[in-house]
Amino acid sequence: MAPLVPRLKDQGYSRDLVAERRRWVENQTGARLSHVGEFSIASEEMRGNIENPVGAAQIPLGVAGPLRVNGEHAQGVFYVPLATTEGALVRSYERGMAALTRAGGVEVRIHGNENRVAPVFAFDSVGAAAEFARWIPTVDTRLKEEANSTTRHGRLERIEAFPSGRDVMVNFRFFTADAHGMNMIVKAADKACRWIMANSRARHYMVFSGLESEKHASGFLFPGGKGKKVTAGALLPAALCKAYLHAPPAQFTELWRHTIAGHIHAGAQGYNGHYANGLTAMFIACGQDVANVVNSAIGFTSFEQTQNGDLYASVTLPALTVATVGGGTGLGTGRECLEMLGCAGAGGACKLAEIFTAAVLAGELSMGGAIVSGEFVDAHESYGRNRPREAAMERAGSDGTEQEAADSPGQGDCGPQRVR
Ligand code: NAP
Repeated sequence: MAPLVPRLKDQGYSRDLVAERRRWVENQTGARLSHVGEFSIASEEMRGNIENPVGAAQIPLGVAGPLRVNGEHAQGVFYVPLATTEGALVRSYERGMAALTRAGGVEVRIHGNENRVAPVFAFDSVGAAAEFARWIPTVDTRLKEEANSTTRHGRLERIEAFPSGRDVMVNFRFFTADAHGMNMIVKAADKACRWIMANSRARHYMVFSGLESEKHASGFLFPGGKGKKVTAGALLPAALCKAYLHAPPAQFTELWRHTIAGHIHAGAQGYNGHYANGLTAMFIACGQDVANVVNSAIGFTSFEQTQNGDLYASVTLPALTVATVGGGTGLGTGRECLEMLGCAGAGGACKLAEIFTAAVLAGELSMGGAIVSGEFVDAHESYGRNRPREAAMERAGSDGTEQEAADSPGQGDCGPQRVR
């Protein structure tokens, strides 16, 4: 049998032990891990974020902006960090941001702010399960006391029972302040579950039922929310729309009509162009749990033509799970990128959610413009290809695409560039 990764002293977080483990991997695999071994985070600080550390993965980091945000928590102009290997992505978001900023900025509002976990309890019969589901609201105060005793910042807000055959799922909804909160609320809910077990006819429980939709794309996220429910919208005058996005408002509504149909045929959860692109890049940059893109990237984009012939564009994200405290938010580059946005630490989570949502709107506009103007493929040819080096050089010599992009007018404010 192949050997296990060696267990090192005190779990092996010192710089020397991380290097020792890396050398072991090099010997086992024959790979040379020189980039993996070059990192500036204090290796001891990785404790709590990773096991068996051998170094750090590096993703290129770009910045897009200016993005004017007119939120209730984020107000002003921001330069947004994006970590990605998808060429054209930063340029694309930058174009959308420039258009939105020229239009006066993005209005953003947060409508819901709670994370949830939904344990499941098992009973002998449908009748016993029903009795339990009716009992849960009567012990609401006691369950809140139990749960809240485990956390200083978390607060159990609501409890809902969902009977299913002879099981009952109990949806615990928590306010988590600036934390993502899954560690916080699973611990808190588990304390409440133990009280339930001691005071009910439940045979047993499991702390997750799946109803919580943590890192799952589910239909429950639209009505049920998770993390922050956020909307962002902006009015773009027709002339500005044409100058920056290369398409009049009518073409955006036409795009919307056609692609709504595609989403319905595909059985998609919601409707959007590419929320996952910007969210993943911002999540990596800002030390978020990237797996939560699965729930955060659910949402709905709308393009409407106003009576004046302008474009009103909006996005709705019902399940945006972001944090500025806990998880990976205090580590090296994540912390620095949160600081770029003025969001690091306590009091930053709602501001971060508003900036991310405004950036998502920028991405939707830019991608929409690229599709309706027919520039989508060209933009990727210019910015987003990584053919083996010889082929790329041949191509640059033969069609001059890179030169065309660099020469395009309006470079300074990302106006008419060809981007996605
Ligand atoms: P955490 O790093 O485990 O804990 C953060 C703690 O920071 C909070 O519990 C809170 O302590 C404290 N805190 C200090 N100032 C705070 C403030 N202003 N606002 C909120 N909290 C503050 O982070 P977490 O957010 O609970 O968990 C996130 C991590 O859980 C992610 O990295 C994710 O990968 C992981 N995760 C866990 C599960 C799971 O089932 N356990 C599932 C998915 C993901 P008090 O509670 O004492 O107030």
